[in-house]
Amino acid sequence: MRSIGQKEGSAESGAAAPRRLVILGATGSIGRSCADVILNAPGRFEVAALVGGRDGASLAKAALALGARYAAIADPAAYGELKAGVAGRGIEIGAGPEAVKEAALREADLVVAAIAGTVGLAPTYAAIAAGRTVALANKEPLVCAGAAVTRAARASGARLLPLDSEHNAIFQALGGRDASSAVRMTLTASGGPFRDWSLERINAATKAEALAHPNWSMGPKITIDSATLMNKGLELVEAHHLFAVPAERLDVVVHPQSVVHGLVSFADGSVIAGLAMPDMKTPIAHCLAYPERIASGATALDLAAIGQLTFSRPDLDRFPALRLAMAALRDGGGAPTAMNGANEVAVAAFLADRIGFRAIARVVETVLEQAAQAGELATPSSVEEALAIHHIARDRAEALLAKN
Ligand code: NAD
Ligand code: MG
Repeated sequence: MRSIGQKEGSAESGAAAPRRLVILGATGSIGRSCADVILNAPGRFEVAALVGGRDGASLAKAALALGARYAAIADPAAYGELKAGVAGRGIEIGAGPEAVKEAALREADLVVAAIAGTVGLAPTYAAIAAGRTVALANKEPLVCAGAAVTRAARASGARLLPLDSEHNAIFQALGGRDASSAVRMTLTASGGPFRDWSLERINAATKAEALAHPNWSMGPKITIDSATLMNKGLELVEAHHLFAVPAERLDVVVHPQSVVHGLVSFADGSVIAGLAMPDMKTPIAHCLAYPERIASGATALDLAAIGQLTFSRPDLDRFPALRLAMAALRDGGGAPTAMNGANEVAVAAFLADRIGFRAIARVVETVLEQAAQAGELATPSSVEEALAIHHIARDRAEALLAKN
């Protein structure tokens, strides 16, 4: 993995060349915040390509607003909408998985990976294998195939910039030091909407209650993961791969204000923490301009106005999904991969009103037990092997749901 370094051009030669960006997941929560940051820094960025899932009209709007050269929509059924939306504006368009991959591989200085879910693995991996610098918001690909993804980055020289707020804070706290210099890395968790709820009340939580996150406005999948605390579990696996730290040096602390995002502890007792308002525009701006600093449009942090920052241990009895994820990380092998696959199916089923909140962790736990018994959790040595474990786990989860 290499350093992104300075942009072309220098202070002596006048204005630097704009940084060329590709945004995968341009119509989502992270994608829209990226657009805000880009529009807040005129002349600084150029958009080579945008990718969206199935909302052709929104992708067309984003492409026009950002002056994108190319826009690719994953769902071919949305091609007409995209085409109508950009008609006569000289933007190249495409649809389907090949078009998405083409977008991911357009010449660019930085690719933002912000598709939701493991479906983001293929284009993100393509960009990494091609040696692009990739700002990673999309955590599921690392949980699914972290070893293969980081190996591909080392082989191609691609740099991975952590965009997830906790990992971004840790990256900044490390300040260029080797991650092995840290004795501990701590991720904070807001605790989600059910932080203070009894187990009984959590088990009976409705979809509307689970979608009402107190601090962050995000896409539906990560919002449910934040309510179960599986999101923090996925982030532990993400940190393990991004920083090559073993499970026993990773920690989670509940911090309802979401102001301290990540902390790095060193051997001498020093702890360096990353603080910012809970607004993804801050880590996005950090990644987009790295190593320079630009205005993000986020509100400035005013600690006196916030008054109190509080911390507590996560309750693994009330939040079994985090316990499962910690165990999967310790077990290693294919366990995090299978866990992630089963969780995607369970969360989608909860969002479709097919199962209750408590059943999400139950489905994940049962799939992990079944997969272990069937000998399906060997360490995946390639993306293909990881996806095989992923799809078996998804099928197992679907089979469990079909029984209910
Ligand atoms: P979202 O649901 O709001 O947006 C997802 C994006 O992916 C959309 O643009 C959608 O069109 C696109 N997409 C969906 N399926 C696709 C497919 N098959 N092919 C191509 N594109 C597809 O999600 P989000 O909240 O923006 O999160 C995106 C990723 O970033 C997730 O992995 C999430 O865990 C991570 N993340 C999000 C936040 C946040 O604050 N939202 C914070 C940290 C990390
Ligand atoms: Mg996060």
